[in-house]
Amino acid sequence: MTQQIYAVYGASGFGREVMPLARQQVLQEGGTPDQLLFVDDNPTSSFINGHKVVRYTELTSMKASAFYVAIAIAESPVRQKIFEHLIADGINVWQIKADNVVMLDDIKIDSGAILSPFVTITSNITIGKSFHANLYSYVAHDCQIGDFVTFAPRVMCNGNVVIKDHAYIATGAIIRQGKPGKPIVIGERAVVGMGAVVTKNVPDGTTVIGNPAAPLSKKALRR
Ligand code: UDP
Repeated sequence: MTQQIYAVYGASGFGREVMPLARQQVLQEGGTPDQLLFVDDNPTSSFINGHKVVRYTELTSMKASAFYVAIAIAESPVRQKIFEHLIADGINVWQIKADNVVMLDDIKIDSGAILSPFVTITSNITIGKSFHANLYSYVAHDCQIGDFVTFAPRVMCNGNVVIKDHAYIATGAIIRQGKPGKPIVIGERAVVGMGAVVTKNVPDGTTVIGNPAAPLSKKALRR
């Protein structure tokens, strides 16, 4: 009988953090570790942490009843490109969720999320495709998160916040709570710097840093 094949796409730092979580899921679903591989377009080694590393074409040439692939690459445009490729090839974009993730009521989450250890997602929350929530991040009530959004470790996203597609929130950033009907909005492709404290909306494509968070000036960039 042909088996399902599972893979973590991206065999670098984040991929190596995701792999043990993926392995646990495979075991919980009654699979074995040899059904689980890394996929990388620029492999640096043929085996990493006990798993074979293959190129994408090698993966798709394998015999399997179905493929499940988690995209463990932080850069969101790359994630989108791979996501669309997988869908076009009829491959399932796999969600990885650490065992101790807390998820409360009425959460709608699209495919391909990676929820690292100690993540909490509370109630009445919508999340788009391929969301990455790294270690200890949280999303509080009534937030709407778009597609290909990335939270680095320990992001604190309070209630009534809207985060548009491809936004990147760096380690330890805090986003102030919005109000019902008047959320704090983080724009499309916006970047919130490490440890920033966001108290008002961030326009599309803007990088903000500091407390209170303000757009990164050209002067700051020259420093
Ligand atoms: N990668 C890939 N296909 C792509 C882009 C990246 O297979 O189109 C791989 C790349 O070779 C590397 C990993 O994904 O092994 C990304 O690693 P990186 O160090 O950039 O980021 P992180 O581990 O933080 O996501």
